[in-house]
Amino acid sequence: MDRINRLLLENKAWAQSKVDIDPQYFSKMAKDQTPQFLWIGCADSRVPPSEITNTDPGEMFVHRNIANLVVHTDTNMLSVLQYAVEALKVPHIIVCGHYNCGGVKAALMQQSLGLIDNWVRNIKDTYFSHKFEVENFKTEAERVNRLVELNVMEQVKNLSHSAIVQKAWAERQVPFIHGWVYDLNTGILKRLVTVDPNSNVDSAYHYKF
Ligand SMILES: [Zn+2]
Repeated sequence: MDRINRLLLENKAWAQSKVDIDPQYFSKMAKDQTPQFLWIGCADSRVPPSEITNTDPGEMFVHRNIANLVVHTDTNMLSVLQYAVEALKVPHIIVCGHYNCGGVKAALMQQSLGLIDNWVRNIKDTYFSHKFEVENFKTEAERVNRLVELNVMEQVKNLSHSAIVQKAWAERQVPFIHGWVYDLNTGILKRLVTVDPNSNVDSAYHYKF
């Protein structure tokens, strides 16, 4: 119970610290949100998006799942994406993976883990597509970390293949999509890829509106 009480006490102290600086902090915050970023990240507890980017409440709309996947049948992720793009009109989407990701590690294993196999299967498909490249690395850590990068790039591609993103590109020339990876050992984010609204999408995935 002490651990739970700690959270509530810390929350009180945090709220007070905000009010001490600006008495209107919460009344202003409660009115509306105009975040500039949608963050799609891993659920891993060591990669808290606001903290590692030093952003305040209201700045970032967040969706997290195991291994930061963009799966085109995931209505949870798609609802977040649609709301962020169409209602909040975020100009930037960031897909952020992290090295040594447990979800990606699981995709490189043959051991069945139960239900989660079906989620991890999405990463296995990326592994299979790049098997030669991934298996060229000597150590398991290197193989995991390369697949982490390839997985991020795949999810960026998945976003660009969605009708939600393509419709916004056609109408408003946003959002930009950024693929990043976070290094747990240094705390540093690395850019992998940026996709701008004029990018070519393969005709198989290209929608007309
Ligand atoms: Zn992870």
